[in-house]
Amino acid sequence: MAETMIQLKNITKQYKENKAVKQLDLSIHKGEVFGLLGPNGAGKSTTIYMILGLTEPTEGEVYVSGIHATNKPIEVKKKVGFLPDNVGFYEDMTGMENLILTGKLNGLGRVEAKKRATHWLEQVRMDHAAAKKVGEYSRGMRQRLGLADILMKDPEVVIMDEPTLGIDPKGINELLELIRNLSVDHGLTILLSSHQLHQVQQICDRVGIFVKGELLSYGDIEDLQKTLLDDTLFLYKAKVKGPSHQLVEKLSMEPSVESIDWDEEAYYIRLNKEDQGELAKFFISNQYDLLSLKRMSYGLDDIYQRYFEGGEISD
Ligand code: ADP
Ligand code: MG
Repeated sequence: MAETMIQLKNITKQYKENKAVKQLDLSIHKGEVFGLLGPNGAGKSTTIYMILGLTEPTEGEVYVSGIHATNKPIEVKKKVGFLPDNVGFYEDMTGMENLILTGKLNGLGRVEAKKRATHWLEQVRMDHAAAKKVGEYSRGMRQRLGLADILMKDPEVVIMDEPTLGIDPKGINELLELIRNLSVDHGLTILLSSHQLHQVQQICDRVGIFVKGELLSYGDIEDLQKTLLDDTLFLYKAKVKGPSHQLVEKLSMEPSVESIDWDEEAYYIRLNKEDQGELAKFFISNQYDLLSLKRMSYGLDDIYQRYFEGGEISD
């Protein structure tokens, strides 16, 4: 069993009437990349602030690396590198100078700070811009510098709130790849939030779908499909050539068939279990000319449509 780095125990955050986070239980393991995904207003930032000890849960407890976040926020801060959605730097200093300053503020000597800064600038592929003033950086560059800045402190856990926000598609891919590599190469535990399910899930070991303060489900994509899209399991698409007399009547008599839909292109058959073999047998033994038979895979798009679109809180 992997070591737990972040543990949320039944936490609730109440702002006056509004419950921003409702009885959230979640454990994040050492070395994993966890994506906290949900539409705007879901409670992602609030959850992150509670983990960082920046705001207190109304109920429940948060532990980071075994340390109580509310009681010992300063100790938690030493373990966690936090990349907010807008990182502040000294704009008229270069990227290198900014990192060296961070190193010094964290107790490093100049030589060691410079050594580390050089290393991390290289790792985040910013060595080419090391001597440029931060004021001239693009948003994507700032985010990468932000990551290097966090890494100067040698954290065990890295938390990023909406890291891809406002970056162009190429920059997003570079940043995500970088985050993935940090986890793989350095064993860092990474928690990131995003309302852009599609972008971020690809680099996550697990994701949690967070809507209106509640964690609907978490796990890998397959787990999510099972829990969130239960009614689309075991749906098959069959293409049949030529006339298919009484196909629907005959099919509906099969014990495993739950429902049948069709359009000009194909038949969509929902079974009550995974049984593609039996279904294929049905077509063959009834002498239909079966062109293709595929299990339909439901995934992120469907999760997105169902839970993210219109999931925003308007007030
Ligand atoms: P997300 O980061 O997922 O977009 P937030 O955590 O920022 O969501 O917000 C969750 C809910 O809590 C929203 O309804 C928001 O309006 C409310 N909220 C956030 N911060 C505060 C605050 N300081 N005071 C009152 N309500 C807040
Ligand atoms: Mg937020």
